[in-house]
Amino acid sequence: MPDVTALRAFLDEHGLAASRPVGDADLAPVHALRTRLRPLVEEADTERRVAEAGALTAALGGVTLAGGGWVGTVPDDVPVADLLGVVAGVGLLAVQLHLGAERFRPCSSDTCEGVFIDTSRPGRRRYCMPGLCGNRANVAAHRARRRAAGTR
Ligand SMILES: [Zn+2]
Repeated sequence: MPDVTALRAFLDEHGLAASRPVGDADLAPVHALRTRLRPLVEEADTERRVAEAGALTAALGGVTLAGGGWVGTVPDDVPVADLLGVVAGVGLLAVQLHLGAERFRPCSSDTCEGVFIDTSRPGRRRYCMPGLCGNRANVAAHRARRRAAGTR
């Protein structure tokens, strides 16, 4: 996310903070949040993930999982990075609660360091970006098979 325009596009894409002004001052906190989130996907320790995800939402107070959804309002004057923290924290907790720890995974591609959260219904997703990492892996496997068959 290189600049404010990219941040705005990201927020709009996800239907967030429509009425909120964003500026250069929001970039560093958003980047810091990203750095903070990655270990929560990689983290094998469920208790720690839940504690850290809870901490992301607790900073604002009044957000909790209730019934089938989440309840809470984020005041308009809360910085964008904190708003994203709440959304991410609640999302992490919801996946942990409803889908389980095995949904937090590294990408299966040999050439990708990505991690992702599988929120698909069957839960068999293998790549962080199926269209990209999945295709690359398929192409590599195809080439390997052709080499093995001796038909270059
Ligand atoms: Zn990947």
